[in-house]
Amino acid sequence: MTLSARPLRLSTTEGGFDAALAARLHWSADTDAGIEKVVADIIADVRSRGDAAVLEYTNRFDRLAATSLRELELGQAEMKAAFEGLPARQREALENAARRVRSYHEAQKKASGESWSYRDADGTLLGQKVTPVDRVGIYVPGGKAAYPSSVLMNAIPAQVAGVAEIIMVVPHPGAQNALLLAAAWLAGATRAFTIGGAQAVAALAYGTETVPRVDKVTGPGNAYVASAKRRVFGQVGIDMIAGPSEILVLADGTTPADWVAMDLFSQAEHDELAQSILLCPDAAYIDEVQRAIDRMLPEMPRAGIIATSLTNRGALIRTRSMEEACEISNRVAPEHLEIASADPHRWEPLLRHAGAIFLGAYTSESLGDYCAGPNHVLPTSTTARFSSPLGVYDFQKRSSLIEVSQAGAQVLGVIAAELAYGEGLQAHARAAELRLKR
Ligand code: NAD
Repeated sequence: MTLSARPLRLSTTEGGFDAALAARLHWSADTDAGIEKVVADIIADVRSRGDAAVLEYTNRFDRLAATSLRELELGQAEMKAAFEGLPARQREALENAARRVRSYHEAQKKASGESWSYRDADGTLLGQKVTPVDRVGIYVPGGKAAYPSSVLMNAIPAQVAGVAEIIMVVPHPGAQNALLLAAAWLAGATRAFTIGGAQAVAALAYGTETVPRVDKVTGPGNAYVASAKRRVFGQVGIDMIAGPSEILVLADGTTPADWVAMDLFSQAEHDELAQSILLCPDAAYIDEVQRAIDRMLPEMPRAGIIATSLTNRGALIRTRSMEEACEISNRVAPEHLEIASADPHRWEPLLRHAGAIFLGAYTSESLGDYCAGPNHVLPTSTTARFSSPLGVYDFQKRSSLIEVSQAGAQVLGVIAAELAYGEGLQAHARAAELRLKR
């Protein structure tokens, strides 16, 4: 049987466009009651039985036969050995990627992650003190595939933020991947455990005899991991709950159609629910992209996943203009947004909602996934309307600083006392008044 990938063809000039677009975008993170129950039970069990419960679930779900959690710990020596054992070319690629990701996040810290303060005329000091989270847990998926790039993208911003302890969890068989362990070494992971799923998230959130309790858990994972992260939020911080991957390409018809088609594939190959959308004012170019899809699909090892994703969730949309394409892109608020245009800087100012924006024909989204520098953990499912890529700021917190001078207390004391009496809070008012000069 020959596979075909037929993204939905839409035009903004047709009636019913808005409803058709909304239907295509619709995706609900329907929580599966079965998974929810399993995860709730695992978390409760890990809280009460600690190591013993984590060990049991790990042996059961990941088909291991460990006799203690200590056996499942990987120290820095093993990570370093994995790094040193890599073939030279792989080692060099990993080092280059890590260096670029680190430089980007160092710039991010300098731009918005430093403490600041100022003094009022009366000498009162006001400011903000920025401090790192003490200990973070990084979940690295490892059930079906290994993701060394996820290690870099989660651990490096934590390291740049100044987090003292980075505890990585990655289930079997991912934990056996040498590139992944080498990435953990380069990115400064302190300790690692070969555990995964809800039991790993619970162990990090509550601590066990062997796994230290962390302050925040970040990183992607399957439905069990996502559900567990939702449940432990509050006990610990979490980064986000990521939905299926998305790409939206805004094209003016000047980028080779093959390039754009392959970029649409690059998200579609993640999974059947991934979403790839093309917006373009030129109907002939859209036809060309469809022909490129038809031509290249059979060459792709993951053709089945790509075909399902493009046919069920993809769209090729003809717009009246590039301006209208930008407006629709803002409605979609995609995770990845490519501006495949000869003049990307003309359109970039019109684009407000996107996880990451890739400008120009040479900027394939895949470069951002691995090594350009910015983080590849991005908001999905239109959440780019209100949230941002994973960054140094996710591993920092802020404390307000207030130092009121004697002169300042005379002014602020009167204001505060007035408002406190209005609220009926006598102690508040009197604490302010005691500091007023008689
Ligand atoms: P995973 O590490 O997320 O999950 C494996 C764990 O799931 C196992 O250790 C096990 O404990 C648990 N599990 C499996 N079946 C279970 C069951 N029946 N009952 C209870 N627990 C069970 O690895 P994975 O399965 O390969 O999934 C990885 C996910 O992460 C994929 O969905 C992938 O798309 C996603 N991902 C996302 C990004 C991103 O940046 N958004 C990056 C990489 C991977």
